[in-house]
Amino acid sequence: MIKVLVFSCKDYDRHYLSEYNGANNIELVFTDTKLDLDTCQLAVGYDAICTFVNDRLDSEIIRFLAMHHVQHIALRCAGFNNLDLDSAKHHKISVSRVPHYSPESVAEHAISLMLTLNRKTHKAFNRVRESNFSLNGLMGFNMFNKTAGIIGTGNIGIATANILLGMGCKILCHDPQPSVTLLEKGVEYVDLDQLCKQSDIISLHCPLLKSTQHMINTDTINRMKPGVMLINTSRGGLIDTQAVIQGLKSRQIGYLGLDVYEMESELFFEDLSETVIQDDSFERLLTFPNVLITGHQGFFTHEAMQQIAQTTLHNLQLFAAGEAEPNTFLCV
Ligand code: NAD
Repeated sequence: MIKVLVFSCKDYDRHYLSEYNGANNIELVFTDTKLDLDTCQLAVGYDAICTFVNDRLDSEIIRFLAMHHVQHIALRCAGFNNLDLDSAKHHKISVSRVPHYSPESVAEHAISLMLTLNRKTHKAFNRVRESNFSLNGLMGFNMFNKTAGIIGTGNIGIATANILLGMGCKILCHDPQPSVTLLEKGVEYVDLDQLCKQSDIISLHCPLLKSTQHMINTDTINRMKPGVMLINTSRGGLIDTQAVIQGLKSRQIGYLGLDVYEMESELFFEDLSETVIQDDSFERLLTFPNVLITGHQGFFTHEAMQQIAQTTLHNLQLFAAGEAEPNTFLCV
């Protein structure tokens, strides 16, 4: 029997993980507490922990976990930018993740941000409820024949490109590892400069790495088409928030759709409706009429939650059996 503490646990995590935990050798204990330096002592006495995107897994916390004999970290997400992998390897803590769960869940959310910003259905919804049937200010544009730039064509980028191809967009892609599937469908791979210059819509789907941090900055924004639509459902740190605010003020950016934000760990996944938000940059973003922000919900579909729970539990089973899979284990 292994004991696993599940951090940052919401009702829906509890529901899906409990439902799929058919094994009798994994005891899951749930806490809604986020993992950080103040809360890591909760992990004492557990064989493994299960964490999510905004749990802190830096070298200090990993050292603490190792000192207290926590042997495995099961990330119930794809991205691992919040984890110091070298430190986990050094302390011989194995790490697993859920690399491929329903990429369509995030891709479809990226498309819904695009269509909402374009056709302004969020504004129309409120207007019609107030019997305001004026169309002033609601004009959009046809997606058909527009050029969409996809940065990062892994699972989610491919799923996004496929939907946009179906809408009749021309697709430009940028990725050091081009997708054969997309090339066969006639997309074009270009460098970042050309993608910025030619795209009407730019959607980010690459991981947050040292090399990709703030890849959307003053320089890249200035190279984009005036009035460009920028969509980020990947990781907040890909975008330099101050540069984007300037881009919105100058109208270089015509539309901004975010499901992620670089300082989201202070905000997202909690009800802060009675709190005074201290993040002035976030509050500034909310004042623009052409900005739409969702709180990291791209993954949040029934199908994705099922797959996340199943793969996480499978990873924990492998850990319990002293096994690992190259596909889902980052280190053993
Ligand atoms: P993936 O690993 O399948 O694909 C990532 C792609 O990015 C790869 O093809 C890689 O070659 C490419 N890439 C790496 N560096 C690049 C660079 N400098 N420029 C362009 N491309 C680069 O990952 P995925 O499953 O498609 O997920 C993409 C990202 O989406 C994840 O890293 C994660 O941060 C994010 N994500 C967000 C949510 C959400 O709920 N909003 C959910 C899941 C994943």
